Amino acid sequence: MSFSKVRTRFAPSPTGYLHVGGARTALFCYLFARHHGGEFILRVEDTDEARNTDEARRAIYDGMRWLGLEWDEGPDVGGAYGPYLQSERGAIYDRYFQQLQESGRVYEDGGAWRFRFERKPVTMHDLVCGEVTIDYRDASNTPDLVIRRSDGSYVFHFVNVVDDLEMKISHVIRGEDHLMNTPKHLQLIEALGGTAPAYAHIPLILNPNGSKMSKRDEGAAVADYPRRGFVPSAVVNFLALLGWSPKSEDEIFSMEELIARFSLEAVNRAPARFDAEKCAWVNQQHILRMGVEEFVELARPVLVEAGMNLDERFPQAMIMVKDKVRLLSELPEAAGFLLADDFVYEDAAVEKVRTQAAVVSVALPAMATAFQDTEDWSGEAAKAALATVASKLGVKQGAMMFPLRVALSGRGGGPDLAAILEYLGRDRCVTRLEKFSHVIA
Ligand code: GLU
Repeated sequence: MSFSKVRTRFAPSPTGYLHVGGARTALFCYLFARHHGGEFILRVEDTDEARNTDEARRAIYDGMRWLGLEWDEGPDVGGAYGPYLQSERGAIYDRYFQQLQESGRVYEDGGAWRFRFERKPVTMHDLVCGEVTIDYRDASNTPDLVIRRSDGSYVFHFVNVVDDLEMKISHVIRGEDHLMNTPKHLQLIEALGGTAPAYAHIPLILNPNGSKMSKRDEGAAVADYPRRGFVPSAVVNFLALLGWSPKSEDEIFSMEELIARFSLEAVNRAPARFDAEKCAWVNQQHILRMGVEEFVELARPVLVEAGMNLDERFPQAMIMVKDKVRLLSELPEAAGFLLADDFVYEDAAVEKVRTQAAVVSVALPAMATAFQDTEDWSGEAAKAALATVASKLGVKQGAMMFPLRVALSGRGGGPDLAAILEYLGRDRCVTRLEKFSHVIA
């Protein structure tokens, strides 16, 4: 290989949204470049004027930035091989086209221009897919390639190859849908006297049922992930597992760990299956591993968006629920009762309390009174008060915990009861017990 430096590029066509398949390609390009201390380039293949809008480009930039895939060269950041929008590179393409004209490799055909293939077999050595050969000897199977349309515009194959040469790309990592294009690209590169990059075509992403993932499928658009409560590091981790095998028991990795471990040899040849449940599980693992401060900062906008008022004690509430949620979007429900008094009671939990009517009608008011009389409030002091009431009434302490939890939180499950008691404070606990008597009456 004659490249002294690893340079990869992600070359999306702006379609108005960033698909998980594209994001995964971008991630593999990024991981490979970072692993080798190389450069990661973003090149926007926006020659299709109809779709060439600012908004469509923005969708790509936003998605990549959310995932943390910062590009070293590309739109917004510049670089030595720009411009990085194909729509601005017309003069470069003209120059290369002229070179093919001068060497007699193109000819006009009905206003369009065709590239004359060399009539021989062309073999590529793909780093993932192995050897692929296309035999160009029979022109009826492999007609010469239109590279310039009659309106003067250039086709994808030509501009893609020119840019990979111009931008000194060392490794082209892209979706398997381009595998069969590559021998054409090798022919073009040879005709231009260039050095071909190495190629790695990565497997498609399929739906769980084996169909090809499309735009409308759940989880297809990266832009939906923040709203659905995913954290970037988890989505990156999940995308990495779509087609790359860590070759270990462990599946949970930070970006740094992925960079350290990534290799193209460990990319699978078989298509990957998208599994939304797995994605949520990976998200939960990232939340569990994350520091409290980071979690608090990710939780804040989610709760503000849900209309919650956050006081200075809200980080404490987050510590209590951090290991209870898979997605950040579950937070308003999981933590709402800590942050506001107007939470809703779960029907099932309330019904379950009603079946213990005798205990509840006596025990809940007794608890309210005992709490009222507790001087130095803490979770432990409150539980001691609860124990006293239980023994006085001859009721099992355990039998009183569930009604108390529902009275305080509206829910049958959640954080540690002592932590809830302590967080809410005596007066709010008493008020909630009193209110709950009316709820179940
Ligand atoms: N614009 C092409 C696509 O989005 C790029 C293919 C490539 O990476 O070479 O499919």
